[in-house]
Amino acid sequence: MHKSTKNSGAVIFQTSNIDSKVFVREQKGFFQRIRRSLGWTLMILFMVIPFIQYQGEQAILFDLEVQKLNLFSLVLYPQDLFIFVLLLMFAAFALFYVSNKYGRIWCGYTCPQTIWTMMYLWVEHRVEGNRQARIKLEKMPYGIKKITTKFIKHAIWLLIAVITAAVFMSYFVPAHQLYIDLITFNSSSLVNFWVIFFAMCTYINAGWIREKMCEHMCPYSRFQSVMFNSNTKVITYDTKRGEQRGPRKINKEKPEHLGDCVDCNLCVQVCPVGIDIRNGLQYECISCGLCIDACDQTMDKFSYPRGLIKYSAINEHAPSKAINYGYALIMTVITVLSILWIINRSEFEVSVIKDRNVLYRETFDNTIENTFQMKLFNKSKQDAVFNVELSGLQGFTLQETQPIKVPAQERTIVMVTVISPENYDQKFTDFEFVLQEVKTQSELTSKTTFHGP
Ligand code: SF4
Ligand code: SF4
Repeated sequence: MHKSTKNSGAVIFQTSNIDSKVFVREQKGFFQRIRRSLGWTLMILFMVIPFIQYQGEQAILFDLEVQKLNLFSLVLYPQDLFIFVLLLMFAAFALFYVSNKYGRIWCGYTCPQTIWTMMYLWVEHRVEGNRQARIKLEKMPYGIKKITTKFIKHAIWLLIAVITAAVFMSYFVPAHQLYIDLITFNSSSLVNFWVIFFAMCTYINAGWIREKMCEHMCPYSRFQSVMFNSNTKVITYDTKRGEQRGPRKINKEKPEHLGDCVDCNLCVQVCPVGIDIRNGLQYECISCGLCIDACDQTMDKFSYPRGLIKYSAINEHAPSKAINYGYALIMTVITVLSILWIINRSEFEVSVIKDRNVLYRETFDNTIENTFQMKLFNKSKQDAVFNVELSGLQGFTLQETQPIKVPAQERTIVMVTVISPENYDQKFTDFEFVLQEVKTQSELTSKTTFHGP
C-alpha cells in the first residue's frame, strides 16, 4: 500500500512501503543521540531497580500475593488508594503540561513502545543490513539466506522479549527468587504464564505492530491535539523556505526557482511512523526529531543553514497560555497533598463492627454486655502492641482484652466485650474505643454505639 503526499500542489506517492511496512533508515544526529541516551538510561534503570534492597527487602516491589507495594520505607496497601489516585493524577497532568509545551515528546523519547521499537530496529539493522538491503531482502523469494537472516533476527528479538518479561515480572515477584526459579525451571505455572504473555506482548508490539500501536491503539495519540495551542513546539517544515522543492547539484549555485528542500526524501525514510512531515503536522508524528537530524545533515552537505525542519511554535515568543499555569498549579496542589498525606499517614488502622448476632446481653449481675469485632491492621515493619480504653462511657469496663498484639504487616481480629454499670437503662449510648500503641504512642480511635434494652 502506498501513502499519498502533496508536492506543491501535485500529488506524489511514497514508494518506501511494501504492503504498508515502514522500512526505517538508520539516522545519526543530535536528537537521535538524545533518544539513545535516554533509552539506555531508562532501560538500565528498569533492569537494575528490582535488585535494589532496602532494610532487607526489595526496595520497589508490587507484592500481589500479600497485596502491598514496597516503596523504600513506605509500604502501601489497597487501603492507601488515595495516594495512588494522586500519583496517577500527577502523571496525567505532567503529561498534559509537557504536551502543551513540547507536543508529543513523551512518545518520541521516553514511551516504552518507542524505546523497545528503537532496540528492535537496531537489531534489525545489524542483522539484515541497511534500509536498501532490507527492502531487497523483503522482495527476495524465500531461500537459505533469507530464512537464516530472518531466523537470527527473530531469535534475538525473542531473547530480548523474554528478558524484558522476566525483568517486568521482577517488579511483582521478589527478583532474586524469580531469576533463580526461571533459570532452574522451577518457577510456578502462573509465573511462567505471565512471563510468556509479556514476552509475546513485547515481541509483537516492538517487532511487528510498532508504529501501528501508536496510530491505532494508543488513546493519547488521538486526543493529544486538543492539548496543542499556538505556543506548542511541534515538528515543523518551513514551507516558505523549502518550496519549491527539487533536486540540484552539491557545490553548484541554487537554481532561482527552487527553495532549500532538495527533495532527498531522507526525512521520510528515517521517520519511524512513515509520514512526510512536509505535508504539515500529522497526528501520527511522535515528535522524535529524526527528520530534523536527517534534514540538517542534508543542509550541511549543500552548505545551507540548518533548521529547514525544526521544533517550532506558531507563536514562538507569545507568553505562556493560562492553561500552562493551570496545569502547573494543579501539579503543585497534588504534590502538596501527597506530602501532607505521607506525613499524616498512620502506620496502624482500626475498624470496629458491632456483633450482629446479639445486640446486647443481660447478665445475672444486672449489667448489660455488648460485643464488638475489632480489626487491627499494622502496616509498619515492626510488631505493635495496643492498649484499649473507652471514651464517652461512665462506669463501663472492658472484659480482659488487653494488650492486643499485631505482628508487623499483618491484620488481627479480636472480639471485645464492653460491660455496663448495674441497672443501665439507656437504649443506646455513643462512645469511642481509644487504642494506644505502646512503643510509638500512636493513638487510634473508632466511634461506635453501646445498645441497652
Ligand atoms: S515526522 Fe519527524 S518527528 Fe514526526 S515521527 Fe516522523 S521523523 Fe519523527
Ligand atoms: S530531508 Fe530536508 S531536504 Fe531532504 S526532502 Fe526532507 S525536507 Fe527536503
